[in-house]
Amino acid sequence: MSYFNGEASHWLAASPADDVDPAPLPREKQDLVIVGGGLTGLWSAYYARQAHPDWAITIIEASHIGYGASGRNGGWLSTLLPGNRTKFAEAVDRARKNDPSGPVGSAGLGGVASVSAFRSALFDSIDEVLEVCKAESIDAHQVRGGHIDIAQTEAGLSRLRDLEAGNEQFGYGPEDMQFLDAEATRARINVDGALGSLYFPGTAAIDPALLTRGLGHVLREQGVTICEATSARHLRKNSVATDRGPVRADTIFVCLEGYSDTVGGDLPGLQGRQVIPVFSSMIATEPLSDEAWASIGWEGRECLGDTAHTFIYAQRTADGRIALGGRGAPYAFRSGLPGDGEVPAEVVDLLAGRLSSLFPDLEFEVAHAWRGALGVTRDWCAGIFFDPTQRIGVARGYAGHGVTATHLAAKTLLDRAAGASSPLTALPWNDHFSGQWEPEPIRWLGIRSMYKIFGLADAWESATGAKKTSLLARFGSRLAGLHE
Ligand SMILES: Cc1cc2nc3c(=O)[nH]c(=O)nc-3n(C[C@H](O)[C@H](O)[C@H](O)COP(=O)(O)OP(=O)(O)OC[C@H]3O[C@@H](n4cnc5c(N)ncnc54)[C@H](O)[C@@H]3O)c2cc1C
Repeated sequence: MSYFNGEASHWLAASPADDVDPAPLPREKQDLVIVGGGLTGLWSAYYARQAHPDWAITIIEASHIGYGASGRNGGWLSTLLPGNRTKFAEAVDRARKNDPSGPVGSAGLGGVASVSAFRSALFDSIDEVLEVCKAESIDAHQVRGGHIDIAQTEAGLSRLRDLEAGNEQFGYGPEDMQFLDAEATRARINVDGALGSLYFPGTAAIDPALLTRGLGHVLREQGVTICEATSARHLRKNSVATDRGPVRADTIFVCLEGYSDTVGGDLPGLQGRQVIPVFSSMIATEPLSDEAWASIGWEGRECLGDTAHTFIYAQRTADGRIALGGRGAPYAFRSGLPGDGEVPAEVVDLLAGRLSSLFPDLEFEVAHAWRGALGVTRDWCAGIFFDPTQRIGVARGYAGHGVTATHLAAKTLLDRAAGASSPLTALPWNDHFSGQWEPEPIRWLGIRSMYKIFGLADAWESATGAKKTSLLARFGSRLAGLHE
């Protein structure tokens, strides 16, 4: 099998690239310096410019706009929460007891209501991202086809039923989520052996490179300075030290996600090892024939997920490919980074095999494989932090659900920096402390074991026709800190 491997992503390789622009570092003090040119950084600059047309704003980006997860992801602009809702709800209830006037207690909402408010803010973010694309003429091949999680095993089906019941408790109504039986599922996407699915109409599919590059283009036109090929090294109050010299700033946002460990400083939400890079890998096929599409369906370009513990995520691209991602070789010892995204051959085989198990009657040719780094905290919950003394803000830990959440994070960071008490600053991810990761080699062993256990649990449930989630998978979730 011959395919492109790495080059950051199929999306970046396929979309028209601007030359990398190491613009001169600004000499004058900036109102806002943003470190990291992914979606968190880009949305921060966008809304800062909307609110303050006169501000001097600079983005410092080590490589080029979208080089990180933002240009490599599966393109799910999804309704999914960046974290474990039970953990968020519990933390809110604890915080309200200890400090009722603190940021998350101030909205007067209990844990479950706070998480519902979080969910509804994320839904608003999807609307707003699509509105900005329209207003700024960004064609990111966006389509709001929803997302559909399809079960191919009885145990997976029971997890969908549990998810449905849990979602109802957290405020989902029939307009947000619908259960589809086997026939209705296969009428949407003809997945082999589909037993049923949950359909979430709110999600949209996008091309990540077109979105990030489109935003970068808009920002340059709006006078935001973007210094590509410039690495931040150390941050402190009013100053970002880079490999090209210092930049002075009134306020600094750190938007580095999986790369958070590449900068030094006493940074809120990053003291100790609070975030590590975990890899997710993807393949994109060559375009499928019209006959193949006729047999699959998938006409709504829904984002497609499954119910396996080693889950996959996929989309039908605008040019008729399938882009599909999942885990596999998820972690490099001592939190290594993904570089240009080359994927081990066995992981490509694994993903291609999973695609074939969804549509066994079809032949697929892999055109491109790549991987990128998610930022993952110990409890898999994202957090937003702002230190008013240093005037440094940090958003990180989306754990694979960041395409929508980056938008909300950026707006929240700006509210925090303005000292405003707003509905966004009361959402439960503000100052959410997730704990710290274990030292090596425990961390490496733990993450590797978790994925091995999930793989075994999937094989067990499929081979035995188990009706419920296996004990093994429950143990894996506990080990990972994913348990609800
Ligand atoms: C393969 C994959 C698939 C995914 N699929 C989905 C999905 O379908 N839906 C979803 O919601 N989420 C998904 N995610 C997660 C989502 O892409 C991320 O949560 C989101 O893009 C994070 O954006 P960010 O701007 O915070 O970080 P990033 O996009 O990672 O941006 C960080 C930037 O900082 C730069 N940088 C690094 N070090 C320095 C430094 N020292 N100085 C300056 N700049 C530096 C990097 O080059 C990078 O551009 C996926 C992630 C991956 C890897």
